[in-house]
Amino acid sequence: YSGKTPYMLIAEEIRHLKVMEVKSVPVVVTEDASVYDAIVALFTEDVGTLFIVTNDSCLVGAVSRKDLLKVALGQGDLHKIPVQVVMTRLANIITVSGEESVYDAASKLVVHEVDALPVVEVISEDSDREMLKVIGRFTKTTVVRIFVEMGEGR
Ligand code: ADP
Repeated sequence: YSGKTPYMLIAEEIRHLKVMEVKSVPVVVTEDASVYDAIVALFTEDVGTLFIVTNDSCLVGAVSRKDLLKVALGQGDLHKIPVQVVMTRLANIITVSGEESVYDAASKLVVHEVDALPVVEVISEDSDREMLKVIGRFTKTTVVRIFVEMGEGR
């Protein structure tokens, strides 16, 4: 018996478990999609956040439910408004890598007050412009799932 308290064991577990082991499949739309397309994807894919990518899966932004609700309340034709206009842009997107711990990822959700993080891989291109490939998603639902599994003692 190690003499560790249950809290110490949980802390150890979530610091060891890597995002790679728990991530979900990313739900993405390409940058040429309309706001209408994005809203349809939100329903058909049953997610709260969509990641916006180029044709070769490079991250360019994210849109949440509220981003889409806001534009849907406006006067414009949702078929004609590009999702790019309403998305949060790459420079402001909080990402996580597969090698980071579940604790690090969950901390980012809390600190930055977002529901989802794209799991990314750096594609080493020209040094001045970092290109990120979206390989998964880590969300509040992921954290709840881990919590329940730990509660069951797996
Ligand atoms: P909702 O708006 O549906 O409650 P969020 O709280 O996750 O969802 O989103 C809040 C804002 O943060 C939105 O404008 C959204 O575009 C943006 N956002 C979503 N995910 C991220 C992220 N990983 N990094 C930075 N901003 C994000």
